[in-house]
Amino acid sequence: MTFESLGLHSSIIKALTDAGYTKPTGVQEQAIPAAIEGRDLLVSSQTGSGKTAAFMLPALHKFASEQPVAAASKTPNQEMQASRARGERPRFKPAQPKMLVLTPTRELALQVTTATDKYGSQMKRIKAISILGGMPYPKQMQLLSKNPEILVATPGRLIDHMESGKIDFSQLQILVLDEADRMLDMGFIDDIEKIVDATPESRQTMLFSATLDGVVGNMAKRITKNPMIIQI
Ligand code: AMP
Repeated sequence: MTFESLGLHSSIIKALTDAGYTKPTGVQEQAIPAAIEGRDLLVSSQTGSGKTAAFMLPALHKFASEQPVAAASKTPNQEMQASRARGERPRFKPAQPKMLVLTPTRELALQVTTATDKYGSQMKRIKAISILGGMPYPKQMQLLSKNPEILVATPGRLIDHMESGKIDFSQLQILVLDEADRMLDMGFIDDIEKIVDATPESRQTMLFSATLDGVVGNMAKRITKNPMIIQI
């Protein structure tokens, strides 16, 4: 099996070749075609299995395949500058990401963001940022003002930004819960439910976890639709 045979966009294949990846891992072989079809996924797989690419490559493929908007609308930053120029009090226009990845820790969020930059290195107009507890708010506001397509976040800090109107999930297409079992162990269940409730019903949901039983399984049932179950 090759990355070409999984049907990925040529810009992604080029980035993978540059990264030295020669063939998909087991979880990638199973997850990528199903995710490209738009299926929800429940994946039991460990760190080191290549799970980040299993959810990020099909997402990047979808964004690479979308038609660019004819006249690009202003970024939130440009809108703020324009309103300032009109003498108005600047208002922060919320970021409208297409994809959200929730992770239990800052370290994992940063790894996912770095991997996304690598996999998307040959694509124009795709930006991923991390929203993390402990990062100064002005820095995060500056990142959000660029209206990134992809947000990678730990749940607590994300809720703060949602509740203060800095993020609007109405355009969200893809939601990923990475290491869902660890997020639940860390007590993030209420935050996760609040975040999921703020996203459109029409989203594609992919959940990755060491185990799919018990509390994780119950949550998975509530937030996915007819998921494909992949056990590695
Ligand atoms: P992950 O499980 O996503 O944390 O990935 C574990 C490591 O495997 C990371 O260093 C990835 O860069 C690497 N990796 C992921 N997919 C592949 C692949 N198909 N070929 C070679 N290395 C890979």
